[in-house]
Amino acid sequence: MTAWEWLQKAKEEKWALGAFNVGSIETFKAIAQAASKKRSPVIIEVSPGETSWLGMKNVVDLAHNFSLMYEIPILVNLDHAESFVDCQQAIDLGFDLIHFDGSNLPYEENLQLAQKITELAHQKGLVVEVEMDHIVGSSEVHSGSAQEEMKGSKFTDPGKAREFIELTGADVLAAFFGNVHGVFEEGGENLHLAVLESLAGILPKTFFSLHGGSGIPDEQVKDAIARGVIKVNVNTEIRQAFRHKLEEVLKNNPSEYAIYKLEGPVVAEVQKVVEHKIEVFGSVNKI
Ligand SMILES: [Zn+2]
Repeated sequence: MTAWEWLQKAKEEKWALGAFNVGSIETFKAIAQAASKKRSPVIIEVSPGETSWLGMKNVVDLAHNFSLMYEIPILVNLDHAESFVDCQQAIDLGFDLIHFDGSNLPYEENLQLAQKITELAHQKGLVVEVEMDHIVGSSEVHSGSAQEEMKGSKFTDPGKAREFIELTGADVLAAFFGNVHGVFEEGGENLHLAVLESLAGILPKTFFSLHGGSGIPDEQVKDAIARGVIKVNVNTEIRQAFRHKLEEVLKNNPSEYAIYKLEGPVVAEVQKVVEHKIEVFGSVNKI
């Protein structure tokens, strides 16, 4: 099945694909094992930083290998790519989905690049995600609140979104409706579902993604999926599980130098996070 077909199936059946960020082969393994155990399709994705660390071709090849090894469908997404060149390279290398994030550019420039990238990606049957109103925050633990992080930013405007989607022909909209990247120590996120409902009403054929899936209460995520979200991005909670377990394992095993022997519990901890998300997203047994 193509990425578009998976998204359409999720939309019709009202569940979502988890889009999990990978920063290392260990996170890759944890996500693949979780998906295999839950019999769930998954999207693995790489942000610009993760892409430069792992290398685009490695990401595609690892996804292919893990997909064969665990007998699960793994789709590969280029997450928050900001340049045409990066998108073009990912299209050529066999990514399944391209998220072009021009939300920091002037509107016209974002629109023109999104049109160009969508045209190129559609020639190969790939899915394109666009972003108009910048989704704030970053994939880390923030000391303040989500409210402070959102100050001065605007939620996605349905009228503008319709124009942008019609002019670009893109498939997925990275909507901003209270979702913020990262986890917040002083007050988390509250989704504004009325904004999502307006978007879904005005753009019935468009897919909607939920960025900043870490730290949002499970019930709110389920409510968003019931209103048309078919892709939920998760990064920070994976990074937290990885780091906390790694610190513990290193502390408890001061004389072990075979790093791979220390990584089993770390992979298991990340896998637990991913399995839980897969349950919340409703993609269990969807293979
Ligand atoms: Zn994001």
